[in-house]
Amino acid sequence: MTTTVGDEHVSVTGVPTGLFIGGSWRPASGGATFDVRDPSTGAVLASVADATAEDGLRALDAAAAAQEDWAATAPRRRSDLLRRAFDLVHEHTDDIAAIMTLEMGKPLAESRGEVVYGAEFLRWFSEEAVRIGGDYRTTPEGTGRGIVLKRPVGPVYAITPWNFPLAMATRKIAPALAAGCTVVLKPADLTPLTTLFLVELFRRAGLPDGVLNVVPSSDAKALSAPIIEDRRLRKLTFTGSTPVGSALLKQAADSVLKTSMELGGNAPLLVFDDADLDRAVDAAVQAKFRNVGEACTAANRFFVQEGIADAFTAALTEKVRAFRIGRGTEDGTDIGPLIDGRAVDKAAGLVDDAVARGAQLVTGGERVDREGTFYAPTVLDDVQPGSDILTTEIFGPVVSITRFATEEEGIRLANDTEYGLVAYAFTEDVRRGQRLAERLETGMLGWNTGVVSNAAFPFGGVKSSGLGREGSHEGLEEYLETVYVLTPDP
Ligand code: NAD
Repeated sequence: MTTTVGDEHVSVTGVPTGLFIGGSWRPASGGATFDVRDPSTGAVLASVADATAEDGLRALDAAAAAQEDWAATAPRRRSDLLRRAFDLVHEHTDDIAAIMTLEMGKPLAESRGEVVYGAEFLRWFSEEAVRIGGDYRTTPEGTGRGIVLKRPVGPVYAITPWNFPLAMATRKIAPALAAGCTVVLKPADLTPLTTLFLVELFRRAGLPDGVLNVVPSSDAKALSAPIIEDRRLRKLTFTGSTPVGSALLKQAADSVLKTSMELGGNAPLLVFDDADLDRAVDAAVQAKFRNVGEACTAANRFFVQEGIADAFTAALTEKVRAFRIGRGTEDGTDIGPLIDGRAVDKAAGLVDDAVARGAQLVTGGERVDREGTFYAPTVLDDVQPGSDILTTEIFGPVVSITRFATEEEGIRLANDTEYGLVAYAFTEDVRRGQRLAERLETGMLGWNTGVVSNAAFPFGGVKSSGLGREGSHEGLEEYLETVYVLTPDP
């Protein structure tokens, strides 16, 4: 691995660019490749093998062939593999962070943070692999005895997005392998390099042939449809946008395929008059600007109570104005580029629409005049009902503030969305916090914190934000079937 990142010289030599099927790297069957670009310059970083539908089915062949042996492999050996992969990822933190920043754009410090977060799933599920249990029960009538046991679901197809190219992969691979499932993984075509390097580290960790296969492709639909239709596949796990997740659910319905869906968000961030102002502002900066705003967990709609709104907006704006915009590889960068030109157009369109409908532009609100796809960190105040920004996932560095009067109004505004992934709330009142935990329509709540993700907790959403959970023992259940065996009274 010779990835180097400096002021002048950036390269990604040493990262595999092939398909990984049945334990070896290979070119695509058609010989085609697609380019991966640095969003901060537009420069081509690498050309990656472009898997065809035939390659996808060869990967499923490999996963299906390995399934029985992997399921029968001692839990301790499955655990050891994940632990070795964790150690290797940890040792290569700087390499992985460099690849990630180059292909995705976020500042290096944040990429290192993702390596730490993503690696934790390998460690957590290496620890869980040896604790998969069942139980023994008596029928209520006392006439029989039953054993409830857990079995791996079977071969898994995993599709991941571009915004967290390491963590979204480890969040699926680790529980699947721990449970005894084999995997075919399709990374996002905008950011496949991080995932390819992760798979190479698994190979070095002693991965048995066929247990984990990776098929990058520029045509996700053509690759995926035959895999999803194939009856050997037993599980589809997807992280990405709600429209694509919904289309995949329709495909999966034909074979009643078990699915997990981690989809889009439209997180409310509520600040009440009794909040600790400094804490709320610092956490709001994290919740909004982490990953350049390109996170499913990004705070999308700020609702601030009238008594604290002026002070909160002023303090937040001061921090936003101090952000340094630059390439993710440059020291001191707070805000890197967005992933591509479409993302910039989307952010600009949402800001223009909000201003046209009466919002006040406090700072930002413009494209950044430099090479690459940058949009200035922006704060909008008094965003009006009916503005597109309140119903659309922004996926960019834009704060949208709406003011509210009462707790009841704040809750109503927060719940007024089809999504329900995460919510943030800032209040020092414990009873109010408890009310919010019970009434906000969300899978996760950050109460006085701006970051909720942790391998030990069940990540996931309600409403159109998805089905199922990742992380913790709930995340392992997604890859297990429950079976019971009943015998008559002895
Ligand atoms: P996307 O839905 O466009 O793509 C996600 C993945 O699906 C990519 O690998 C893509 O190639 C693939 N894909 C696209 N169309 C497909 C099809 N027809 N068949 C099979 N695969 C297909 O999403 P994105 O732009 O990569 O990621 C951003 C979205 O992901 C946002 O909506 C964000 O909220 C969501 N996301 C959710 C979570 C979560 O945990 N809930 C985490 C990260 C991102």
